Amino acid sequence: MRDADFFRRWMTTTAAAVEREADRLTELDSPIGDADHGSNMLRGFTAVRVALEADPPTTPGAVLQLAGRTLISTVGGASGPLYGMLLRRTGKDLGDAVEVSDDDLRKALYAGVGAVAQLGGAAPGDKTMLDALVPGVAALSTSYRAAGDAAENGARATVPILARKGRASYLGERSIGHQDPGATSSALVLAALADVADAG
Ligand code: ADP
Ligand code: MG
Repeated sequence: MRDADFFRRWMTTTAAAVEREADRLTELDSPIGDADHGSNMLRGFTAVRVALEADPPTTPGAVLQLAGRTLISTVGGASGPLYGMLLRRTGKDLGDAVEVSDDDLRKALYAGVGAVAQLGGAAPGDKTMLDALVPGVAALSTSYRAAGDAAENGARATVPILARKGRASYLGERSIGHQDPGATSSALVLAALADVADAG
């Protein structure tokens, strides 16, 4: 079973990964965006870490809902509301249980990713974060590490895709040949989950 502390560690491990990779995320957002994805994610997840430390929620659902609300209020770009929706919806799905099972988390994340697809109107193959999140969450039935790896492969597979959603879609054919920044950060989020699960 996973408690609030596991979810806090997931969020702080994500924050550390975002800190490490912020420059790369911004570089990826340069040719097909407006070069702010790294700074957006860094601002958002730094605020998440501060919020969780200031008033640590006591249930898994409350940790993710606070993280989601914080991202929505601190990240101006498209990714803020989308990641905010992912975490808020996943947290809501977990309810107010003090501990949740891996199966509960898998189902909740599935609902969270569905809510992201609905909010953004995107599907896998549109060159967005969903290209990492959808295969990632599907692989959760195997293991957390499989989910992280599937998300990473999904992010890499966005390179030859033509963008159909978000800022990159304004470029049309010129969006081809670049890895999607949001899919790349989504792979970091799922890799952080695998890291925390591996640590016990
Ligand atoms: P902005 O595009 O407003 O500058 P960011 O740079 O922070 O915001 O995030 C860009 C990322 O957001 C993209 O790489 C893509 O993965 C994701 N994204 C954009 N629009 C959508 C959408 N409609 N559905 C899903 N993801 C999206
Ligand atoms: Mg951007």
